[in-house]
Amino acid sequence: MAENPALTAAVASGLPVIPVFLFDEVAEALPASPAWRTGLGLGMLSDALEGCGSRLILRRGPALQVLSMLASETGAKAVYWNRLYDSDAQARDTRVKAGLKEAGIGAQSFAAHVLHEPWTVKTGQGGYYRVYSPFWRAVKDRPVAPAEPAPSRISAPEIWPHSDKIADWDLARAMGRGARVVHPHLLLGESAARTRLDEFLAGPVRGYRSDRNRLDRDGTSRLSEPLTYGEIGPRTVWHGGMAALNAGLPGAETFLKELVWRDFAHHLVFHTPHITTKNWREGWDSFPWSSAETADVLAWKQGRTGVQVVDAAMREMYVTGRMHNRARMLVASYLTKHMMTHWRLGQAWFADCLVDWDPASNAMGWQWTAGSGPDAAPYFRIFNPETQAEKFDPDGRYRQRWLAELPGPASDDALSFFAAIPQSWNLSSDLPYPSQPIVALGEGRKRALAAYEARQF
Ligand code: FAD
Repeated sequence: MAENPALTAAVASGLPVIPVFLFDEVAEALPASPAWRTGLGLGMLSDALEGCGSRLILRRGPALQVLSMLASETGAKAVYWNRLYDSDAQARDTRVKAGLKEAGIGAQSFAAHVLHEPWTVKTGQGGYYRVYSPFWRAVKDRPVAPAEPAPSRISAPEIWPHSDKIADWDLARAMGRGARVVHPHLLLGESAARTRLDEFLAGPVRGYRSDRNRLDRDGTSRLSEPLTYGEIGPRTVWHGGMAALNAGLPGAETFLKELVWRDFAHHLVFHTPHITTKNWREGWDSFPWSSAETADVLAWKQGRTGVQVVDAAMREMYVTGRMHNRARMLVASYLTKHMMTHWRLGQAWFADCLVDWDPASNAMGWQWTAGSGPDAAPYFRIFNPETQAEKFDPDGRYRQRWLAELPGPASDDALSFFAAIPQSWNLSSDLPYPSQPIVALGEGRKRALAAYEARQF
């Protein structure tokens, strides 16, 4: 509950506070893993609030309607919340603010989700940034306010309004796929996130510059999941990274730069909302990507393309709800370049599977890799997954960890993939691993380059 300016302001009002989680029209659209993970996070938040003499009230329905009803039931004088930056959330917030104000209820939103709100970072000409490096230069020396501490007591109302039960929302419904298998891999709740930040800053940050690319090492912070759910705030992470930088720890600046990529993604989503649904560069609309859910696309999802590092990564995501950043780039490149498949299919599969799913970072990552984004890897630069694996998984430990079919004893992680997948996939660890890639690396590269040469833009 630290770094929650809306809660801090509500507590500072001196009036009783009714903490509410609203499962509204925006939350209804959450994909499978994020919906399930939201439910688990709410359980933790509810416990934390009870520790402060408060409660979490759960309500479901259109935001303005539900909040107006709740305000009239309880006599609330004001509603406070933290802002998001995608177009659906922005449109909802505008509706809610106008509706509440019309009804004579105070409505105030706060900045919590990013370090610098998108409209506060402007180019010399007053526009927005399309490229990351100047964005970084524009913000790197800006002051960042300290995180608000968590309240120790929250004043309760005399009568609590009714709350839905989280179980009734059935947020795990679409997680038929191995919730039980994924659960132990989660970084769940505020205190786990805080501990992980401290551990990371006490050790791995030193080697972060090179280790962040190693598939076989635990060299990154793993904070994207709690950052997504607001269980740790970006200002807390920034100040931790700054303290490491000031202490002279070598990887700290690179770490801060990565954190700012997250802000950049939200900057792009705010200024160019189409980044989540369409090619950022319109010219790519005529590119001959396939949008068909073919057998090859299914093989990509199932980690059975026959390209070991791609398959290892897809299985890592299925089992843990996470995937190493370099692996995300490799599987996205194989799909959009070797397999000539539209990035939107990959974006949707990631949204279903990732527990750190963030609509802004996911869209930016896919469009970066595919070549259609604002600050993108050029399409003709095609990752070779085999040379990448030699470089970033030199002893094959990552591939061995995730592929049960490789020679040698299968690891528990590799086997747990088969416990997580739907029966309808009809796969088992006894099936032989594909003897050929579904798209051979040389051939796929040639085909992708030919399509790029023949492009109409
Ligand atoms: P660290 O290396 O410890 O970095 C620290 C923090 O910086 C991260 O927690 C994250 O918040 C931020 N960060 C790091 N790299 C990036 C990046 N490239 N873009 C934006 N922020 C970054 N990240 C998500 O949070 N959610 C997504 O849905 C998502 N989808 C992606 C899809 C693709 C195709 C690609 C290429 C990248 C995607 N990323 C996404 C970015 C990145 O892969 C993850 O943020 C990173 O792997 C998280 O691991 P970490 O917390 O250990 O990162």
